[in-house]
This record gives sequence, C-alpha cells and structure tokens, in this order.
Amino acid sequence: MENSKATILVVDDVAANIEILNGVLGNQYDVLFATNGLDAVEIAREQNLDLILLDVMMPGLDGYGVCSLLKNEEKTMDIPVIFVTAMNQEEDESRGLKAGVVDYITKPIRPSIVKARVQNQLELKHYRDSLKTLSNVDGLTGVANRRRFDEVLQTVWHRARLSQSPVSLLMMDIDYFKAYNDNYGHLAGDACLRKLGGALTEIGRRSSDFFARFGGEEFVLLLPETDIESAVLAAMRTQEKIRILHIPHAYSDVAEHITLSIGISTIVPSDANTEFDLIKQADRHLYEAKNNGRNRYQF
Ligand code: GH3
Ligand code: MG
Ligand code: MG
Repeated sequence: MENSKATILVVDDVAANIEILNGVLGNQYDVLFATNGLDAVEIAREQNLDLILLDVMMPGLDGYGVCSLLKNEEKTMDIPVIFVTAMNQEEDESRGLKAGVVDYITKPIRPSIVKARVQNQLELKHYRDSLKTLSNVDGLTGVANRRRFDEVLQTVWHRARLSQSPVSLLMMDIDYFKAYNDNYGHLAGDACLRKLGGALTEIGRRSSDFFARFGGEEFVLLLPETDIESAVLAAMRTQEKIRILHIPHAYSDVAEHITLSIGISTIVPSDANTEFDLIKQADRHLYEAKNNGRNRYQF
C-alpha cells in the first residue's frame, strides 16, 4: 500500500454518482468504474482490487447480488466491499453486513467521510494481507513454509485426482549439514539455508510448481501434472544449480561444497492412495539416496 496506489472499483448505475466519488478519490487512488453489477463482478475477477464501493440499488444485479457472486470465488471473496446507499434503515444494514459488506457510506456523499472510511478499510486490508503473507512464509529463508506447503499439497492433490494426472514431489535434504553448523557456526548455517532457498525457488519452471522449506535443512518441490521423467529432470537441474552455487563445505565427506540428496516420488491420485503417500515415498527414496552415498537423487 505504501509503494503503489490502491485500486478501488466504484459501481453505480448513475454516472453522476461515479463522477462525484471519482472527484473525491481519484487523486489518491487508482479508481475503476462499472455501471452495472455484472461488469463489476467481471472487473473484480480480472483486476487486483483493494476495495469496492458498491451501489446497492441498481437495475439487474443489485448490490446484494454482486456481493454473493464475489463471495463465491476465491479470487474475489476477500475484497472488502463498502455499500454506498441512500437507504439507512437498520434492516438493510444488517442484511448488508450478513452479505459480507464491511462498511456503509450514505448518500448524499460527504467527501471527508468517504475519504476516512475508504482509508480505514484500505489499512485493514493491508494488515490482513501482510498477516496472510507472514503466516505462509518461512521467516529465515523467505520461501513458502510447511504450513503453506500442506495447504497447496491438498489443493494440488485434489485437482490431480479429478484430472487423473500425476503429481511429483522432490524431497531434498542437505548433506552433512550438522558438520557445517558445527564447524562454521549456526549463523553461517542460516546464511547457507537462505542462499539455497533463494536459488532453488527458480528450479520449478511452471507457475504451478511450488517450492517450500519442509523443515530444518529440508526443502520440497511440488510438481503438479508432472511425470517421473520430468521430475528427474528437475532433480538434475537442482543438483546442477547447487554445484554452480558452490558453497564451500570442507567438512563434507562427499564433496568440497554443499550438496543435496533428493528423493523423488510420482503418484496418480486414486482411491488406493493419499497425499501422504507422496511424502512417504519421497522420504523413502531420500533415505535410499543418503544410504547410497549422498549427493544424488533416487526414484
Ligand atoms: P545427512 O547428510 O545425513 O543429512 O546429515 P546431516 O548432518 O545433514 O543431518 P542431521 O539431521 O544430523 O543434521 C541436520 C542439521 O541441520 C542439524 C541442525 O542443527 C541443522 N539445522 C536445522 N535447521 C536449521 C536452521 O534453521 N539453521 C541452522 N543453522 N541449522 C539448522
Ligand atoms: Mg534432515
Ligand atoms: Mg541433512
């Protein structure tokens, strides 16, 4: 919010009302317009909105209708909506609050009230957004955390089950990391984890590929709609990346730099398995990779 202008959608079937609100907010925010409910929903789906000022009474889809459509979709359900209304009866207000409206502005428009209420809601949204980010990101490395991974895995698994497509998982574990910590110190260990995390986020090539810190010195790369051949290629790219990164590790038994062992699993979801099998299988293969000499992948 500090860096870029917030985007606000103003919805009203009367152009004069839109003009008034644009006059109040246009200098400070990016203001978009819609003159009917369906256009409003369409814009909300396509743009990244921070707030919607929504007229209640419109021909066709009214404010309540727009709200319920917005609440139905993941992309739009969290956009705060302020009702702009000539009505100020308690009954209408409670109906609006139930529909998920966060505040009311009553017509005729008073600029200072509009500005204050808009700013309040934008601030609240900003805090909600940063909390959400914080709860999904690992504090040390800045990559997605375990909590987020569990969420994404569920969604990915569910989709793959419907489409009957394979899901692959790479489970990576740094080799001899205890020795690294013991010899270079815990802070150097932390720096190493940060470097690895940063470098490995780039391994996934599709936007749906998902990289996370699984815990400790273990990372995971989740690859939806990916068969074993492509998963192996991703593991090879990972090993290559680590080799080029070349973080010195004089106390490793397998190389002079930091290396990874990787366990790979690929499963097409069915009645006979769950997402936990994907993790278990990758874990088993990781264990084999360690036993077979480390600095390698196993599938
Ligand atoms: P292996 O090759 O079998 O994987 O051996 P290893 O030493 O890597 O495995 P082990 O499980 O014995 O040790 C993992 C080490 O990772 C121990 C722990 O202190 C370190 N570690 C886990 N999380 C962090 C962290 O956040 N920061 C630092 N600096 N070290 C961490
Ligand atoms: Mg480990
Ligand atoms: Mg290890």
